[in-house]
Amino acid sequence: MNPAKTTIIENVACTMCGCVCDDLKLTIADGRVVSVSPGCSLAEPWLLGQSSSDEPSCRIGEQPVPFDQAVEHAAGLLMKSTAPLIYGLSGSSTPGQRSAVHLADTIGACIDTTASTCHAPSIVALQKVGESTCSLGEIKNRSDLVIYWGSNPAKSHPRHMERFVDAPGQHVPKGRAGRHVVVVDVKPSESSELADTFIQVDPGGDFDVLWALRSLVRGLPLDAAFVSGVSRQTLVDLANRMKRSRYGATFFGLGLTRHGIPHLNVEALLRLVTDLNQHTRFVVRRMRIPGDVAGADSVLCWQTGYPFSVSLNRTYPRYNPGEFTANNMLERHEVDAAILVGTEGVEKLSEAARAWLREIPSVILDHAGIGSFVSGTVHFTTAVYGIHRPGTAYRMDETPIPLRRVLDSALPADHEVLDAIIRRVKSMQKIPS
Ligand code: SF4
Repeated sequence: MNPAKTTIIENVACTMCGCVCDDLKLTIADGRVVSVSPGCSLAEPWLLGQSSSDEPSCRIGEQPVPFDQAVEHAAGLLMKSTAPLIYGLSGSSTPGQRSAVHLADTIGACIDTTASTCHAPSIVALQKVGESTCSLGEIKNRSDLVIYWGSNPAKSHPRHMERFVDAPGQHVPKGRAGRHVVVVDVKPSESSELADTFIQVDPGGDFDVLWALRSLVRGLPLDAAFVSGVSRQTLVDLANRMKRSRYGATFFGLGLTRHGIPHLNVEALLRLVTDLNQHTRFVVRRMRIPGDVAGADSVLCWQTGYPFSVSLNRTYPRYNPGEFTANNMLERHEVDAAILVGTEGVEKLSEAARAWLREIPSVILDHAGIGSFVSGTVHFTTAVYGIHRPGTAYRMDETPIPLRRVLDSALPADHEVLDAIIRRVKSMQKIPS
């Protein structure tokens, strides 16, 4: 790639939210992204901040060191550890996530993703009661009713409505005009202003409202005049609208997991959608966070059988949220070395967990500047998948989207660092790689 030349690259995928839009057009000049189209309030600042990088950047403490020396030091730390933890992965991509599981298997580590601090209750709920699923394309082509529950997509997923609700679909040729949009949340938002119906629920009232809707959908009487701030008539109207729809789609966000017993709130929604399938076709999907957290779930599932909070310290995978969750293990001081594959999730850890993270040796792989909450014994500045390296990201509907390289970089990608550490650890263990 000649950095002096202006290049236009089309159909680039963005990983700044779970939509993973793959229709972006980037203009590249002087080794930088200089324009992004179509516009998006999250994607533009991130993409315009990306550039090529000529020099690998590794440190032991504050001391810059060559790549091989950093790998040697990281492998030595891990060989001394009896309870290592690998955490993060949502800013990575399939190759990096796969290598992280391989490393966990090699050193007998626990491995956990940032899902454990966000949609973990949703995963536990859908493991219990299942989910009525579909692709986003199916929703665009078929839905005449779209409900956002505990989510503000206009802010968190800026093009979600544009691409899957406003756009015409095969069986919804009028697009937005052919769909009814409902927002259910604890307070008005940018998205509720765009909705046809806004239903405000008291904080902590989601479970009661969802259970009342289940009763109505099943034809049972509802005696209460109000349920968690929502009038009976509003609930009756929504239940009837859901039953009458030709194809209904529900998207839920972290708002549903912030109050009460999070996994029971999600379970109530999943069960409501199951009930609705007695009357019409209805589906439910999670609004996933930035990066490739859906890919981390998928890679861990296909490699270990479980989506997060997995221990490989007995050579076979064990799954137990809480027992093998990064935050809890760090709080209980059950970890003596950590490998952070991306630091995006560290801010969501509790202060006690972060305090222990600062005490133990750590190997940090990160493409952004790391915050003051963790310094790292060994630090690798890494290339970005979808910018400097190809890869795969999973959209919120678990559709894998290819990521392309759009800028050159001498920085190593996550899988290149992890594979080098694995080779060195195996040579120290005298295991053929
Ligand atoms: S909606 Fe999300 S994935 Fe799409 S361009 Fe914006 S930030 Fe990127």
